[in-house]
Amino acid sequence: MERIAVFPGSFDPFTLGHESIVNRSLSLFDKIYIVVGYNSKKEGYFTVEKRMEWINKVYKNNNRIIVDSYSGLTVDFCKRVHAKYILRGLRTSSDFEYERTIAQLNRAMAVEIESVFLLTTPELTPINSTIVREIIRHGGDAQKFVPAQIDLSDV
Ligand code: ADP
Repeated sequence: MERIAVFPGSFDPFTLGHESIVNRSLSLFDKIYIVVGYNSKKEGYFTVEKRMEWINKVYKNNNRIIVDSYSGLTVDFCKRVHAKYILRGLRTSSDFEYERTIAQLNRAMAVEIESVFLLTTPELTPINSTIVREIIRHGGDAQKFVPAQIDLSDV
């Protein structure tokens, strides 16, 4: 049976940290859905469409990666695409506390779906979308924190 994983996130924008998690997971799963979640509480900095367009550019030559968006529960999206795994990255102990709550709640809702965590590569630990957005807001160059295929000035 095909091993299908869902990598959910805001990806606002998709960074080298996200790319590393996806690339390393390709040896674990046959197919990975990278899905941009619509957050009911915050609108986001880049539009969901732009975030998806950028991720699609990064993986345009990889037919095992599918880029999509969703609103609602992650486990419901997983069920729709028959994914049995939720993929997340762990950078710090605070990530762990946050992720543990979400993973345990997801498991309570869908016992057949396992959450799988990869530890970040040390040099990518400080890279996160919030910092990238802050650098852009203050006129800095955040281009080196995102994959080469993403042009942050193309908005
Ligand atoms: P969310 O808003 O759902 O946390 P993010 O886009 O911030 O979405 O992150 C999506 C996933 O990618 C999360 O599991 C997060 O821990 C992981 N992630 C983010 N940055 C990194 C990084 N530098 N290294 C490894 N994983 C990361």
